[in-house]
Amino acid sequence: MNTTQQNLSISRRNLLKFGAGVAGTAALTAGLGTKVNLFKAQPAVAQNNITPDEALNQLLEGNRRFIDNKRKSPNQTMTRVQEVAQGQAPFAAILSCADSRVPAEIIFDQGFGDLFVVRNAGNVATSEEIGSLEFGTLVLGAKVLMVIGHQNCGAVKATIAGNAVPGQISSILDAIKPAIKPNQTLEESIISNVKFVISRLQASPVISQLVKEGKLKIVGSYYNLETGMIKVVT
Ligand SMILES: [Zn+2]
Repeated sequence: MNTTQQNLSISRRNLLKFGAGVAGTAALTAGLGTKVNLFKAQPAVAQNNITPDEALNQLLEGNRRFIDNKRKSPNQTMTRVQEVAQGQAPFAAILSCADSRVPAEIIFDQGFGDLFVVRNAGNVATSEEIGSLEFGTLVLGAKVLMVIGHQNCGAVKATIAGNAVPGQISSILDAIKPAIKPNQTLEESIISNVKFVISRLQASPVISQLVKEGKLKIVGSYYNLETGMIKVVT
């Protein structure tokens, strides 16, 4: 290899290492792949070795058991606690509201090590949430990422009302504001917020690459506080 070829080869390598777009995503994925060992995230139970469709079904079947009062309460024994202490491999990642009436493991009838859950008022996706969900999907291997909006969400309601709020509550409302269109009902606004949050997640090169490779499915849903039912909305 002559000097010119060597230089070309080096600059190609640099391009792969620091480049944007697909090359950048590939480099980032490779880098985070190494971190799997650093984070000791090797699964004790390969429970997320399923397809995105199977993962979604697993969530919806769990919700059906919950509604029908036929909960199996899987993976809630001390044996399971000790098993997943060695490593986690959650099959689903969830972004939902911090509302006390929407506890993910209960409404989906799951247990320890099953769900990677991010919750905040209004289920918004700012940098920290997106980073957390990138970790839950790319590094831990969750196969479905579900964003859950819920009936009568106070955060969305306050955003529509537009009144002054104390402290840093306004940062939540500011995050929801771009999702809301004029003259929408509360339910429509809650679903708009779910769709807006999904567009924010799809803008993550890490998450969109997983979707492109068929390793991840992103789903939006609406939770009915009265019936306990999760309805897929997008
Ligand atoms: Zn809420």
